[in-house]
Amino acid sequence: MVKHRTTLTFYGGVNEIGGNKILLQDGDTRVFFDFGMSYALKKQFYSPPFLSPKTEKSLQELGILPRIEGAYRFDGKAPSVDAIFLSHGHMDHSAYLSFIKREIPVHCGETTKIILEALSENRRADLEFDVEGIDFKPFRTGNKITVDDLEVEPVHVDHSVPGAYGFIVHTSNGAVVYTGDFRVHGAKPEMTREFVEKAKDAEPLAVVTEATNMTGASVSSESEVEGKLNSIVEQTSGIVLASFALTDVDRLNSFYRVAKKNGRCLAVSLKQAHVMEALRRDKGLRVPPLRDESVLIFRKSKKRYDRWEGQIIERYKERVVDVFEVSKRQCSAILAMSFYDLEELVELQPSAGSCYVLSASEPFNEEMEMDFERLCNWFRHYGLPQYHVHVSGHIMPLQLKSILKEVNAARVFPIHTDSTELFVKFMRDLKGQVVPPEKGREYEV
Ligand SMILES: [Zn+2]
Ligand SMILES: [Zn+2]
Repeated sequence: MVKHRTTLTFYGGVNEIGGNKILLQDGDTRVFFDFGMSYALKKQFYSPPFLSPKTEKSLQELGILPRIEGAYRFDGKAPSVDAIFLSHGHMDHSAYLSFIKREIPVHCGETTKIILEALSENRRADLEFDVEGIDFKPFRTGNKITVDDLEVEPVHVDHSVPGAYGFIVHTSNGAVVYTGDFRVHGAKPEMTREFVEKAKDAEPLAVVTEATNMTGASVSSESEVEGKLNSIVEQTSGIVLASFALTDVDRLNSFYRVAKKNGRCLAVSLKQAHVMEALRRDKGLRVPPLRDESVLIFRKSKKRYDRWEGQIIERYKERVVDVFEVSKRQCSAILAMSFYDLEELVELQPSAGSCYVLSASEPFNEEMEMDFERLCNWFRHYGLPQYHVHVSGHIMPLQLKSILKEVNAARVFPIHTDSTELFVKFMRDLKGQVVPPEKGREYEV
């Protein structure tokens, strides 16, 4: 194969958790890995819903959306990007597809496509998240996608959303590995293991790795979380209120199993039911059926329902409950609720001995952008103690170090972290060179 110049440029995910946008160029071929929204940058200027960006111009002006000629729908230039590869469906990796020219193909796992299309249906039209018209090209592990002379090999990894992948990119100079977001303490560590094996075999020139958990690391696992949830539910005499991320299927399954085990029903929101219904179409996933006797669908009190909400209510009539019904059966329910559902507590009137479980932490998850102070005031008002039971979707430092040693790339680029310097020091005895990337700078590999 003819050797071209191969470079990496990081347009996001630099010194911040999320917002990944990594350009890989091999000769004339230009491919992006992820195209996410940067919550950290956005927070510096905006506070939705009242102070929100109105146009892409504002986002570019403030440096939230990088200037990349020929990438965006609004720039009227010929496409300058050959393809985009998404590692998974979290917004900090995928949302800014919104701005991408529709003729640029977007390769992603089948599950990611399902998730993004479902979320796009059940959210109001949004400048920063709109996948209408995107040319999704779904893949599965084992597929190899060629873009000109590049060959991209997606390999599944375990993360807090199903359908997450790492990539091994075979360039004209050798392999470049991108981890996406991953972990080895989740429900399917063997998937991450397979990715690491393949990455190692590729003898990569460079690894672009997530490094989220350099501070506040812990030793736990998804199964330990389930045990803890069970112990809380076992002891609770009233209703169990719970918050967890909409697309975290492992956690959903944990709550479902715990509900079943304790003779309770798990009441999910219409939004969650809609995502679950979509994900049930993915044969590779285990998602609780909405007609299951341990599942209820909680219909919030409001005057008008969106079309997709009406459809869910119609299709699963016999499983749909309102706040009054839940209020009558508190001791036999786990009610999944978000910050936006707190007003329901007024009718629910949690009985003595009820409690609240926060089973999420990632602040870049839209569902969890909670205002903790207000949340606490509600729970104080109703006498609800709060438990925090969670395990991160991201790999822990010692495990990451051992994996990077094993993969043994010539260069390591840490991204998706606010502790880049710490990472560089902690990893300084790796054989390869650790390079803290600068935003917008081109690195030859
Ligand atoms: Zn992420
Ligand atoms: Zn993620």
